[in-house]
Amino acid sequence: MKYVIWLVIALAVVVWFQRTKKNIINKSRSASGDPTGGAGGGAHPSSLSGASPPVEEMVACAHCGLHFPASEAVTDYAGTVFCGEEHRRLHAH
Ligand SMILES: [Zn+2]
Repeated sequence: MKYVIWLVIALAVVVWFQRTKKNIINKSRSASGDPTGGAGGGAHPSSLSGASPPVEEMVACAHCGLHFPASEAVTDYAGTVFCGEEHRRLHAH
């Protein structure tokens, strides 16, 4: 009889744990917003690990394909990203 009681308790713990896990997943999904709204539409590296420092977004030059931080990007009127003023000019002509 004692065995059955422990079995019921274990089952209740498993059910409670899975319900809690589901709630956490739902919360994180609603907090990150709709996936269709963002430009680029990639993963959220900041949400994966809270301990790591913020990673700067990397973009690729449309002319040579070089990857570099978005803060160093040069963009043309259409919003195309280039690694420098020279490549923007070379690509535009
Ligand atoms: Zn380039």
